[in-house]
Amino acid sequence: EPRRIPREDHPVSRKLISPAALKVLYGLRDAGHEAHLVGGAVRDILAGIEPKDFDIATSAHPEEMRRVFRNARLIGRRFVIAHVRFGDEIIEVTTFRGAITDSHERDETGRILSDNQYGNLESDAFRRDFTVNALYYDIRDYSVVDYVGGVEDVQDRVLRLIGDPELRYREDPVRMLRAVRISNKLGFDVEPNTAEPIYRLAPLLREIPPARLFDEIIKLLMSREAVANFRGLRAYGLYGQMFPDAEATLQRYPAMAGFVERALANTAARIEAELPVTPAFLYAALLWPVVAERFVQLQSEQGHHPNAALAQASNEAIARACQQVTIPKRFSLPMQEIWELQPRFDQLQGNKPKRLLAHPRFRAAYDFLVLRAETGDADPQIARWWTAAQSGAVLPEQPDEGGDD
Ligand code: ATP
Ligand code: MG
Repeated sequence: EPRRIPREDHPVSRKLISPAALKVLYGLRDAGHEAHLVGGAVRDILAGIEPKDFDIATSAHPEEMRRVFRNARLIGRRFVIAHVRFGDEIIEVTTFRGAITDSHERDETGRILSDNQYGNLESDAFRRDFTVNALYYDIRDYSVVDYVGGVEDVQDRVLRLIGDPELRYREDPVRMLRAVRISNKLGFDVEPNTAEPIYRLAPLLREIPPARLFDEIIKLLMSREAVANFRGLRAYGLYGQMFPDAEATLQRYPAMAGFVERALANTAARIEAELPVTPAFLYAALLWPVVAERFVQLQSEQGHHPNAALAQASNEAIARACQQVTIPKRFSLPMQEIWELQPRFDQLQGNKPKRLLAHPRFRAAYDFLVLRAETGDADPQIARWWTAAQSGAVLPEQPDEGGDD
């Protein structure tokens, strides 16, 4: 039997739930279906954090949802999810999932392939990843329903997988990434049995479709907890599975991790300040150690002009990274520009600075240069010169040892 916490004993209040999510919950209830708020929103409210999105679980099947919400968009092929839109808010609604049984098709590593059985509230709860993500706010009586000890785990501030950890990671290896992200977001400890298999099972990430990894990496590293997530991913051996070349370079040149962390801290500060951030800049920073190492290597080989060496290094870095993680063209092109502009910051003679200042990618490349200079990867004097140059109309005096080619 689940534990039911009555409304007066928990902090989940309708005031904290978005009007759109409430409309979906009441709409389903009034049509005779079960409807619960679930997942991150309930968890975050219990942990004292403002929830950012609202997921709903219901007994209604997709066709029934569409009868209640004519604007529902059904997405996904195997397990259908409905997106209900109110204004610019999208509420994700899923039908209760059935229990995993031996009849489920799995691949040779244990990953679930077919998944289309509907179930009830209880089976749905045991299908979720962490106990704190399996708490339901029941719109009928405003109680919180807990099948898995999640309420206690929120109080103790621990992140614990439901069921046998190794089995659950094999079913879906992305849960290893979620463990890092959600524990850092909440400031929770990863429960020891939940943490233990990760290092060993990290290679399973190689089976994950590159596009899904791209999305997860954005959630991990374009976030306020970007630096903690980066360190967590590296400590668990997950980073090296997703970015094998970058991790290998960081092992050889540990100081380069300082640059990457500086870039991630910068991204986090921009998110905090509600300034725009782009995956192109993030990925440019993540792969810069690879590009920089290869650039030096190619230049020391006979017959490589610096521009050609840099172009080759950046092409190689992106092509190899794409074997694990999708990098859409709309990001990889600006990434390459950010990299390929870096040597041009050293060229201060004639009208070269003026031309660089007018380059459409100047701002991003300049921000990148500043980060490099702050972490010993570029000449701070040159970076200061450019700081002055980009802020004023008049180009400043050139430092003594300006560019010489
Ligand atoms: P946030 O939205 O803050 O990033 P979240 O926990 O809500 O965190 P979502 O990706 O929105 O994350 O997922 C919603 C819910 O769906 C989760 O809380 C969890 O119950 C369930 N869920 C998501 N991904 C998985 C997974 N890989 N395995 C099992 N359950 C999952
Ligand atoms: Mg969510």
